[in-house]
Amino acid sequence: MALRIENPATGELVEEVASDDDASVTAKAARARAAQPAWAARPIDERLEAIRRFRTWIVDDKERLAAITTSETGKPLQQSRNELAGLALRIDFFLDHSTAVLADEVVMNDPAQNLLERIAHEPLGVIANISAWNYPYFVGANVFIPALLAGNSVLYKPSELATLTGLAMVDALHKSGVPDDVMIPIVGGGEAGAAILREPIDGAFFTGSYATGMKIAEAAAKRIITHQLELGGKDPVYVTDDVDVASAAAAIADGAFYNCGQSCCAVERIYVHENVYDAFLGAFLAEVKSFKLGDPTVEGTYIGPLTRRAQLDVLDAQIADATAKGAKIETGGARLVTPGNFFEPTVLTGVTHDMRVMKEESFGPIIGIMKVANDEEALFAMNDTEYGLTAGVYGKDRDRARTILSRVNAGSAYWNCCDRVSPRLPWSGRGHSGIGVTLSTYGILAFTRTKAWHEKTV
Ligand code: NAD
Repeated sequence: MALRIENPATGELVEEVASDDDASVTAKAARARAAQPAWAARPIDERLEAIRRFRTWIVDDKERLAAITTSETGKPLQQSRNELAGLALRIDFFLDHSTAVLADEVVMNDPAQNLLERIAHEPLGVIANISAWNYPYFVGANVFIPALLAGNSVLYKPSELATLTGLAMVDALHKSGVPDDVMIPIVGGGEAGAAILREPIDGAFFTGSYATGMKIAEAAAKRIITHQLELGGKDPVYVTDDVDVASAAAAIADGAFYNCGQSCCAVERIYVHENVYDAFLGAFLAEVKSFKLGDPTVEGTYIGPLTRRAQLDVLDAQIADATAKGAKIETGGARLVTPGNFFEPTVLTGVTHDMRVMKEESFGPIIGIMKVANDEEALFAMNDTEYGLTAGVYGKDRDRARTILSRVNAGSAYWNCCDRVSPRLPWSGRGHSGIGVTLSTYGILAFTRTKAWHEKTV
């Protein structure tokens, strides 16, 4: 069986890669199982050294890797480079913190009772890393770097839409000293992912859609194994009336349209206080109309094609639904007639929560803007969603923003920023945005299980 990898900007074949079937997944899972204890038994400094070499590898090979990612996802070249630069910083966080986080914790040492109590953080064992394509370096490495450092072996299935990027990372890990059987790629689509979940794995770490996330949760529940789901979002921002309109409009337009809107934490809904609505809309539209759309390999392109062709239909349907219910297209509104998956950056106003575009994840270059009368109305609208990944408030008053954001049901809160992920902070979703945590020290412990040691000298 071969996986066909196409260039989303041209529709042309990039490469065909042999994909896994049930038998090869079973064989790989057995290899991962056999190799894991020896990897976990190595001193952590050896595992850190391998990851440090991986970091050097990806930094040195940045241009080739960026070109690979752009060829299969359509991400503008500079944005592929940006992701690689961000990856190095995430790796730095894990290199700096893993030793301390994974060390045993003595929680009691009482000579009078001859008692020592200690918490040990043991690896889970063999974990599945089933990944998405929109930030293939980030979403892959958020899992496999801390998992490997904690002593797990990893069955890593990159998305079928970012397979070459995934295989390039695995190759770099192997060249850096991570044994072939400790980091094993699985190639293919949903079938291959489902096959991994039928193996006797110890944890399932998934990044992708809510629809697939439910299937992962079901499979993991039957096995009673640890699972984490990093799913989609419908992330809101609220623009208050004491905002600096120009800078907020520029930042929010970037948050909505960067990577062609294909970010889990892309801004997907904008609520604007009525006092600044007209000024904000004008500045926002000017910003969006300045975006350069086109060939992602050309320097300066900001909006490339959508990675997944079927998403064009989702955008068409959301726009048709919104306009039928009274929304106005301020700019954009249609796909380009090209072999590539291009869609014009689109801004809708007059939107309501009866429209799909304000309820369902768009995952593309389209955004709805809604006028609100006050903070309470904005807060109600922000929370009117099944998702809960991030939410932002723009305005000069920190206390006002904190008051609003403390009542928003989301894993991340942004004041005067958006579409931002920090390796130092836990990344988590609520509701249909998922369960579990990656990044931060919590995202290292996520790949361990505790052993409680009760030691009594006699
Ligand atoms: P997807 O759900 O289509 O696929 C994700 C992965 O699951 C792929 O590797 C796919 O092959 C695999 N898969 C599909 N069916 C499967 C099955 N039955 N069993 C096991 N594996 C299966 O999602 P996608 O299109 O790759 O990613 C886009 C989605 O991911 C968006 O909703 C986005 O918001 C979300 N996302 C979330 C985060 C986050 O951190 N919360 C980050 C990036 C992307």
